[in-house]
Amino acid sequence: MKKGKKLYEGKAKIIYATSDKELVIQYFKDDATAFNNQKKSVIEGKGVLNNRISEHILSNLSQIGIQNHLVKRLNMREQVIKLVEIIPIEFIVRNVATGSITKRLGIEDGTVLKEPLIEYCLKDDALGDPLIADEHIYAFEWAKKEEIEKVKKMILRINDFMIGMFRGIGIKLIDFKLEFGRLKINGKDEIILADEISPDTCRLWDSITDKKLDKDRFRKDLGDLIPAYTEVAKRLGILHEQSNVSVVNVTKLSSIKKKTR
Ligand code: 5GP
Repeated sequence: MKKGKKLYEGKAKIIYATSDKELVIQYFKDDATAFNNQKKSVIEGKGVLNNRISEHILSNLSQIGIQNHLVKRLNMREQVIKLVEIIPIEFIVRNVATGSITKRLGIEDGTVLKEPLIEYCLKDDALGDPLIADEHIYAFEWAKKEEIEKVKKMILRINDFMIGMFRGIGIKLIDFKLEFGRLKINGKDEIILADEISPDTCRLWDSITDKKLDKDRFRKDLGDLIPAYTEVAKRLGILHEQSNVSVVNVTKLSSIKKKTR
């Protein structure tokens, strides 16, 4: 498959065309941004880890019937994905209140929610991804009611699966962001999971110590982001136990693992 021209560059990823018009290449950058792009940095190796972690989670989700855009990982930083029309909504799923909801509604940080809470944000950097109600989605035709109903069902299954997967490796899934896209499968309009699922898009706390193993290490200047993401990858069984936290070793291990497949 030939990599073509750049179609889109986001904050953490680049999308390239391929020789197949239904497929694109998703490249994971090392760029880290927060607070609507006001805080920026480059964290060497982050893209490599997110590529591996997202591949692992999305391929597990397809095994339980959650259709998603992942076709295959190509190399350390790239994966082939299906080209979809992204629904311009960020779906936020919360199991424990932290982050923006605590400030917005005055909820105590760490409050365990009785049921998962789904929030909708308009995907618009210029507006700071504002929180919206489902009425806005229908009023401005960002998605149809049937599509949102379908997405909500998928979200609850994804959440149940991911809570269990992370609990099994001593991690609490606090909250996360999902994106979905439209495409035609056998002539039928379908909605599938898109984007990425990684410590960049989830809040992950160690089950015992509540240590943050996600992008909050960057947002809150806690440092040691790469060791935290590496810890998540190791616990998921993607990286071997003996691997060092250094990016060089992460890089070497990914190529060794690829060769032995
Ligand atoms: P909050 O609304 O508390 O800032 O974020 C809730 C969850 O959604 C967190 O896990 C956060 O990482 C994720 N999230 C929300 N918006 C974005 C975004 O624009 N980019 C990324 N990478 N994650 C987001």
